[in-house]
Amino acid sequence: MDKKAVAAALEEIALLSELAGENPFKVRAYESGARAVLTFPGDLADAVQRGELCNIKGIGKSIAAVIAELTEKDESRTLQKLREKISPGLLELLQVPGLGPKKAKILYDKLQIRSLGELEYAIQENRLVSLPGFGARTQEKLKSGLERVKRYAGLFRLGDLLPLAQELLNQLRGQEGVLRAELAGGVRRGLEVDDAIVLVAAIPEPEGSLSAYERLFTGFHVTPGLPAHLETTFTKGMRFILKLTNLESFGAAWLFGTGSPAHLDELTEHAAQKGLRLTPQGLFDQGQLQPSGQEEDIYRGLGLPFIPPELREGLGEIEAAVQGRLPLLIQADDIQGCFHVHSHYSDGVNSLAELVSASRERGWKYLGLSDHSQSAYYAGGLKPSDLARQKAELEDLRRANPDIKIFWGIESDILGDGSLDYPDEILKDFDFIIASVHSQFRLTRKEMTRRIIQAMANPHCTMLGHVSGRLLLAREPYEVDLEEILEFAGQHQVIVELNASPYRLDLDWRWLRRAKDLGVLISINPDAHSLRDLDDMAYGVIAARKGWLEAADVLNTCSPGEVEAILKRRS
Ligand SMILES: [Zn+2]
Ligand SMILES: [Zn+2]
Repeated sequence: MDKKAVAAALEEIALLSELAGENPFKVRAYESGARAVLTFPGDLADAVQRGELCNIKGIGKSIAAVIAELTEKDESRTLQKLREKISPGLLELLQVPGLGPKKAKILYDKLQIRSLGELEYAIQENRLVSLPGFGARTQEKLKSGLERVKRYAGLFRLGDLLPLAQELLNQLRGQEGVLRAELAGGVRRGLEVDDAIVLVAAIPEPEGSLSAYERLFTGFHVTPGLPAHLETTFTKGMRFILKLTNLESFGAAWLFGTGSPAHLDELTEHAAQKGLRLTPQGLFDQGQLQPSGQEEDIYRGLGLPFIPPELREGLGEIEAAVQGRLPLLIQADDIQGCFHVHSHYSDGVNSLAELVSASRERGWKYLGLSDHSQSAYYAGGLKPSDLARQKAELEDLRRANPDIKIFWGIESDILGDGSLDYPDEILKDFDFIIASVHSQFRLTRKEMTRRIIQAMANPHCTMLGHVSGRLLLAREPYEVDLEEILEFAGQHQVIVELNASPYRLDLDWRWLRRAKDLGVLISINPDAHSLRDLDDMAYGVIAARKGWLEAADVLNTCSPGEVEAILKRRS
């Protein structure tokens, strides 16, 4: 086990011991042990062998023994025993926001609540109100938290699904007898959250040789047919579906495996109007199989151009295809640079120089730095003196890196009254300003809309950041009139961010077409806090494609010179 895994195991022991009602000092000791392991600079296994664990601050004798067991045997009896003792339902309760181990323990001790269902029932019966440390407000809070957990149950962010899907796909492609394998489902369509990973594969005899594939991944449940449907559920409820077909029908199986249901319904209807029959086995004319090996074959057979998977949502794409009005979607390599990048001046982890060279490695021609402004104290927002220091460092970098244009910006908090976070004489120095809401989410729809429009009306505001404030599967968007905001942005040439972080993907792709119609220029921004986050740009491009955007609709497909002119056009 590596350090991270050992620390996670110690944290789990802390959590389970707390649920088991063990001595709080012991619980804290495991927690600090986990932190000590994570920050220990040396090799953990070496330290175990030399018996030096107890010399590490925060690690006592009994925890040292557990760590030794974990590094040597990959398991711990202490953890094993606790896992047997604590029912999984009790752990499930901890998913409810506002419900920590202490409260969960009280629920268990006083009301024998061991699952989300039992919690729901107890709330229904108003039983939490009189518990020690609870009360009507806590019960109300837990009720809405529980509703959220239920709504999000079984759903996963694209940022978690896509990498795993690619891993599974590689595994599948390496299997003997697999002639072709592709990614399908909502992940291929670029949905921001979904409940399943779907892959489609062609094998020589899908009707006859399923058993070999049944054993491929554990727990596969098989429904024979063409395509055959193999399904299993991973931990935490993520579904994994594999469709097996032959090469002849591959295009049809891939099309149907990709969806969406609305797109397929319309497409089947379109086929019927042409006297054809479209099924997951292929496109049929008078019972005769037409070319169906490629998706393109099928669209062509229906008299349509190829419709990119991101557009297949039943939102007018077939009509647009018939009329030859499909957009020429933006592509990853249209991106020439990016904005909204945090450095170690605020809550990012990297230096300005590291960010500049990472941009060069990605082939970008410009980089827009924007740390947090002074009011974001929790994120190390920059005071005027920090700004002067940053500006000086940036000037040096500009001289040393003439091949990359560095734009100096700030992510300014939108204050409660809609003003930006610095006085005008400071704001005017930046090349661009992203205005974002980071606090006071609970205003009324009217107040929030007015507040944001007030910020956009400031001539120094170049861009509006993460427009709805949502955190996917964690925080709902705040109440706000997006139509009014986008209309204002279009009229006043305020650029609107498509935040590319897979936790946000905000503005929602469902609004991008409307934004485009209202004349709003979109900027795909990684909101990066580390070098790795810069690669989140890929998710932003997927969302932009899903929103029908072309390269010309997106600021950061422009050349450095064009960008410079656009950033200056307001103030
Ligand atoms: Zn922000
Ligand atoms: Zn940010």
